[in-house]
Amino acid sequence: MTREPGIAEPAVAGAGAPTQFSVLATAAGPGIRARLGRVETTHGVVETPQFMPVGTNATVKALDPADLEACGATIVLANTYHLFLRPGHERIERLGGLHRFMGWDHPILTDSGGFQVVSLADARVIDEDGATFRSHLDGSQQRLTPELAIEVQEALGPDIAVAFDHPVYPSRPRAEVEDAMERTHRWAERSLAAHDRPDQALFGIIQGGVDPELRERSTRFIASLPFDGLCIGGLAGDETPVQRADALDVVVPLLADDPRPRYLMGLGSPADLLEAVRHGIDLFDSVLPARVARNAQLWIPGGRLNLRNAAFLDDPAPVQEDCPCLLCRRFSRAYLAHLFRARELLAYRLATCHNLTFTLDFMARIRTALRAGAFPESLVSLRARAGGVSRGEVAVEPA
Ligand SMILES: [Zn+2]
Repeated sequence: MTREPGIAEPAVAGAGAPTQFSVLATAAGPGIRARLGRVETTHGVVETPQFMPVGTNATVKALDPADLEACGATIVLANTYHLFLRPGHERIERLGGLHRFMGWDHPILTDSGGFQVVSLADARVIDEDGATFRSHLDGSQQRLTPELAIEVQEALGPDIAVAFDHPVYPSRPRAEVEDAMERTHRWAERSLAAHDRPDQALFGIIQGGVDPELRERSTRFIASLPFDGLCIGGLAGDETPVQRADALDVVVPLLADDPRPRYLMGLGSPADLLEAVRHGIDLFDSVLPARVARNAQLWIPGGRLNLRNAAFLDDPAPVQEDCPCLLCRRFSRAYLAHLFRARELLAYRLATCHNLTFTLDFMARIRTALRAGAFPESLVSLRARAGGVSRGEVAVEPA
């Protein structure tokens, strides 16, 4: 890997340990498994619980790296599927790797591409060896296997790579969920066998839908493998909040003594993040805060503002009085409402800065409560701050 000037060599504790995870505090109480921790990666430390903004095409839409830092981001996610198709992992490797390519010197996680193959690509055929599909960009036939997904991620060079999996929506029939889970297990072993980049961690994905028996089997199997962290996939789909909580009540107790970070893939609304933290999750990612921002939905304590509402055209107040973001420090609701109506590009940048600042500040508040030993007592105020905002609302644009 070509390293950026001024970036220290990673402190790798022993062979095969590109990340170190420490639990600093745990919260006790009925149904509470929240914990404070830190993940040390090749490019820096990530405090947990933490939210990872999604940079689909090696950019968080409308933001530059300085914006992301100002929002409080310490790690971002990039999409293997998208970068594999365009501009190509070999090109990014020739240009010095993903960190240099996107101008981001902090930690990066890449997902494996499994979710995008299932959710975005056309004419996909999953066989035992891999997935054949048509590119959503140009219709060309493409193929990803566990080995190639690892090769792509080793070329991209994120701090954390993820094993190739076969996700399905939680509502699919049990036989289909089980078949995909078993394939995910075989692909997990192949991903591990293929991975040999010593400065890069590899996380495995637990599947099993919302069936307790399948979730338990998948948790036991994936946790038995020498991954550096454990992803929980196949949720944040079409399950109910109760089904999600029940699935986490199966997975997390089985991992009670497991020393690795737990990452619930695809969850992004503050209310959902808080509940998952309560259940013991450390890491999250979602396009949701940025996507709803581009739809003029601004998250504020206790709810949201729809800047397309004509009432805001005359509102001189900031979107959120005490918010330190680029938008709220300098501009009014009236100005942002005008920018959205005029379809000015600045609207997307300012609104995205605000929603990510709100989300990352919310995670910081959760960590503060955990650090102070006051998480159970803080749940009421944290829930009030998260409001009723739930995933799924206004999520109409493709990733
Ligand atoms: Zn703001």
